[in-house]
Amino acid sequence: MVKDDCIFCKIAAGEIPSKTIYEDEKYRVILDLGPATRGHALILPKNHYANLFELPEEDAKEVICLAKKMATIMKDKLGCDGFNLVQNNGEAAGQTVFHFHMHLIPRYENDGQEIGWKPGSPSQDELEEIKKQIAGE
Ligand code: 5GP
Ligand code: ZN
Repeated sequence: MVKDDCIFCKIAAGEIPSKTIYEDEKYRVILDLGPATRGHALILPKNHYANLFELPEEDAKEVICLAKKMATIMKDKLGCDGFNLVQNNGEAAGQTVFHFHMHLIPRYENDGQEIGWKPGSPSQDELEEIKKQIAGE
């Protein structure tokens, strides 16, 4: 289940070299070439799924467990002060490589990075409407 023209399929398969920090039968974890911080890494499934919506549920469970395992190791080895897990789906959400991946981003006090959003200020009515839209009555 690989896609011919997908760079992350080729990296995950080892056809394109990468700085690999973990590998097993189904996943490869590599250092990001354009890191937000020191140690920024990516979890890549070896199978091609474009995004979270295509990722099978079983794999989703494995990815979050692997993220926890890697974050724990990286926190210990890198001595970071915090950790962000980031996972973008779709161009509107900032996804640029359309092969599912989870960002592992070690954070350091005063690292100068901003990973976040500008908070909105919805009314209670708006929140109620959204709640109904998603979850029903
Ligand atoms: P996205 O914006 O799709 O969530 O993240 C794509 C990430 O992949 C970016 O952080 C970018 O720096 C990284 N990236 C893109 N191409 C390559 C590559 O060829 N090798 C590695 N190691 N990282 C890449
Ligand atoms: Zn792929």
